[in-house]
Amino acid sequence: MAQRVAVPDGANKKTSRVRVAVRLRPYMDNQDEKDLGPCVRGLDSQNLEIINWRNATETVKYHFDAFHGEQTTQQEVFLSSVKPILPHILKGQNASVFAYGPTGAGKTHTMMGSSDQPGVIPRAVGEVFKLVKAKDEDEGWDYSIGMSYLEIYNEKVLDLLSPSSQDLPIREDKDKNILIPGLTLTTISSFSEFDKHFVPASLNRTTASTKLNQRSSRSHAVLLIKVVRTQRVLPHRQLTGKLYLIDLAGSEDNRRTGNQGIRLKESGAINLSLFTLSKVVDSLNSGTAVRVPYRDSKLTRLLQDSLGGSAHSVMITNIAPEYKYYFDTFNALNFASKSKLIVNKPFTCETVAVLPVKRAKEDHKAGVSGTEPPKKRHKGDRKTEQDGSSPCADFHSPSEPSVMDRLVALEKLMMNCQDKDKLSMLSVAQSRKEIQELKEKHREFESKAMLFSRLAGEKSSAKPEPAFSNNNAPLQRKQSNATNAKKQQAVVQPLQVSQFQPLQQLAVVKKQSVCVKKERKISDPVEPPDGKENSWELQLETSVLEHSRQKILHILNTGSLKELKGLQQIGDKKAKLILGWREIHGHFMKLEDVVKVEGMTGKRFSTFMKANILSAMGK
Ligand code: ADP
Ligand code: MG
Repeated sequence: MAQRVAVPDGANKKTSRVRVAVRLRPYMDNQDEKDLGPCVRGLDSQNLEIINWRNATETVKYHFDAFHGEQTTQQEVFLSSVKPILPHILKGQNASVFAYGPTGAGKTHTMMGSSDQPGVIPRAVGEVFKLVKAKDEDEGWDYSIGMSYLEIYNEKVLDLLSPSSQDLPIREDKDKNILIPGLTLTTISSFSEFDKHFVPASLNRTTASTKLNQRSSRSHAVLLIKVVRTQRVLPHRQLTGKLYLIDLAGSEDNRRTGNQGIRLKESGAINLSLFTLSKVVDSLNSGTAVRVPYRDSKLTRLLQDSLGGSAHSVMITNIAPEYKYYFDTFNALNFASKSKLIVNKPFTCETVAVLPVKRAKEDHKAGVSGTEPPKKRHKGDRKTEQDGSSPCADFHSPSEPSVMDRLVALEKLMMNCQDKDKLSMLSVAQSRKEIQELKEKHREFESKAMLFSRLAGEKSSAKPEPAFSNNNAPLQRKQSNATNAKKQQAVVQPLQVSQFQPLQQLAVVKKQSVCVKKERKISDPVEPPDGKENSWELQLETSVLEHSRQKILHILNTGSLKELKGLQQIGDKKAKLILGWREIHGHFMKLEDVVKVEGMTGKRFSTFMKANILSAMGK
């Protein structure tokens, strides 16, 4: 058995990092029924921006190791993101290249391509043969190349070169090499021989996909190219380098792709591998994880020796520019990059100009005067306000109302994580003052907004500027909008102006700690069956209680299997059901949503809460 070589990292300590490239596929008319134009665009070879769903005057800017724009050819993607890692395979090191992103964003195009535009797979295999051929005969090594091709579907490992085979086990040998006993490994001596095996196996998969309800978008196709290098003379040392080329399952939300009907277990498992991969990449790239959760799914277990450590890995995140992909694109970008920047820059004037009119009309219809301040609206109207003022309102169909809720929750969650520490340090007095100021500003903006929306109504017949018309415009600060008549229209969405967001959070947090009765409403707990069971909560200080609640919610939404099991009252089965629920439904908006998980009754929820809050407080 070939030995895995421990390669000293030496100067390059960052080898365990997964390089992240983003590829934006060209805009397609037929994917944009409403003719809204693109919602995302590249800025340069490493940066891109996407419109901020909360405020059309802003974009969110992301930075990556590489950005490949719409015009990038297959050859360019290969040369910049894949070719540089291939020589390592011949030295006995491992590597992996995977295409991530929503279905329809170009993963298969990137990995497989077509006969006239071959993708990463044929180019990489061709290059490996070229590298081997170019090796100097006199170096004293023989090379042999083998291929395996498998699919991970529903957490089952299936051999695509031997389609009748059953789920295969994944094992680790004493040298920590990962192997799959029983998996076909076919020796190939030329590219055409590779093609001979690869093409029919890929077709097998495609045929299965139509029968099995889009299976190909839910399974991971994993091609393994194994290069074994053997010394001709004694002691016949042998080095094996593995290259994994992976077309991942679509990263889109299961709820929007008609998965609601399938069984929880199946649905949860479909993306358990993808979900765990996200966590693995995140741990590797943040460099903070004590334990990388490779063992939590089949895909990551398989890649354990080829992702992180001394392996070379590239993730190509594929995204699509049309608005209908917005939510999935946003998620994919957030997964791929933890660093982002909100930039105040109108993306398209179209969204900016149209929305206020719509909102003014809606207000009118609802019998609310256009100049009426928001305080007169009912609490339940808040969501509608956000929907109406967000660009998303235009591109998500009414049949998808939960998308907005989830974006709000997602953002709250992110804000919570970032600002929690800062917030807890602010004094109550200071916060009260800020809340007061905020409320005043809020009112002031609201009345201006109403004024502008009327103005915008008068100008609504004006032709909107085309998307990207401001491509070269310098970045502007938000304040400058107030002096520009045209941009003032953009201020029509002042409720979501970015500087408000942290303060709104602050207002909520502080309300919770200052006003006990209201706090109960905010956190909206499930009523205990007998009305008494939660009396223990009343004995706790409200802010402490809320803090514990947030902590538990955070674990429920982001915790690994092990972390979930670390919660009181959560065993292996329940933790898996929670993971499964998350896979289908996204995040728990509030703790009480846990009752939606199979087997979690209202009563069990109360016990769960009590045990966890008391445990968090050491009672
Ligand atoms: P996925 O595998 O992510 O579901 P596909 O690779 O099947 O997406 O791409 C969806 C469609 O978009 C296909 O018709 C594909 O040919 C086309 N496409 C994707 N990326 C590009 C690109 N970079 N250039 C041209 N067409 C592309
Ligand atoms: Mg595909």
